[in-house]
Amino acid sequence: MKPDSLSLADFYRLIPKVELHYHLLGGVRVATMLDLARKYAVPLTGRDAKCYYRAHQAETGEARGGIAALECLYGLMREADDYARVLEEVAEDAHACAVRYLELFWNPSDTVPATADVVAALASAIVRVEARLGMRVRLIASINREKSPEEAAAMVREVALLAHPLVIGVGIDYREENAPIERFWKAYRLAAAAGLRLTGHCSEFGLHWRNVETGVELIGLDRVDHGYTIVDAPELAARYALEGVPFTVVPSNTWYLRQWPDHAEWRRRHPIRAMGQLGLSIVPATDDWHIHATDAANCYRTLVEDFGFDLDSLRAMLEVSVRASWLPEQDKARLGDAWLAEFDALRARLAFEPDIDEAWRITYRPRFAVAAEGQP
Ligand SMILES: [Zn+2]
Repeated sequence: MKPDSLSLADFYRLIPKVELHYHLLGGVRVATMLDLARKYAVPLTGRDAKCYYRAHQAETGEARGGIAALECLYGLMREADDYARVLEEVAEDAHACAVRYLELFWNPSDTVPATADVVAALASAIVRVEARLGMRVRLIASINREKSPEEAAAMVREVALLAHPLVIGVGIDYREENAPIERFWKAYRLAAAAGLRLTGHCSEFGLHWRNVETGVELIGLDRVDHGYTIVDAPELAARYALEGVPFTVVPSNTWYLRQWPDHAEWRRRHPIRAMGQLGLSIVPATDDWHIHATDAANCYRTLVEDFGFDLDSLRAMLEVSVRASWLPEQDKARLGDAWLAEFDALRARLAFEPDIDEAWRITYRPRFAVAAEGQP
């Protein structure tokens, strides 16, 4: 064995990562949720809090789900400083998993403090985090699609007027069933006119792939969050693969875990595998870190151990993630090269590469990159 050899667990933790789909409040630690409740004298027992966190749901026997957790947390974060605290904790946890660049969603229309105050607090926390940890964090103002399109447009107008350099894009989240993305065209058009980048949760919860198509073709999304049912539309998927439309994909997504509670069936049928095989540009993501009982290392471990992607695939996904990020173009090549070199150096220290059954193994290459190299 090499003297400085690495275990696979260390490898998954240490490889540089770019995280583009992370809801700030999904990363609130359970102890922090309880602390906030105490601060504002809100009656919340330890058991109540644990019901929101997947890690504790076997113990409590009750699962309240990620969206309910976010709704509870927005009510508990009553001062702008609470946002600064949570961002610093989120960044510390991400840094411990070698996340080098992080784009975080928050919902300006759901916060108790005014948007300008929340942005100022988050921005001051980002400055501290960047100085202390050397990681870069940016913000995405996300539309709560359970509220009206007019509220969404008003939110985007306010964010656009602030024109804060750390708020770089607009997204949309929450329950999609009765709120397809086209209802929010005006908010997105205002965002685009203000020079903000666009992303959106589309076709989560097994919903029809037209939501992805509408997001890309009508709204003009730069990225799609989730988008799993694109695998049901082979022609469209082939075109998006060739065009390199990025999809942020979440192995810990709740809907599919509930759909196929049997682990073997879940790993076989989860669309992330098929999306990889189609050569779509997939960006591994954690979504709701503590709420989902996951972290960035676990996300990459799952891709290998459950979905059969090999380490060449993880390297390709890092390249895709850098390309899909909203880092300044001039930084992408420099940082991407440095992170890939780090990835290679860590891989060279592995005691063993993962043992993946040949019939199950995927060596992922994004279709657009293969086409650019002139391969068939
Ligand atoms: Zn999400």
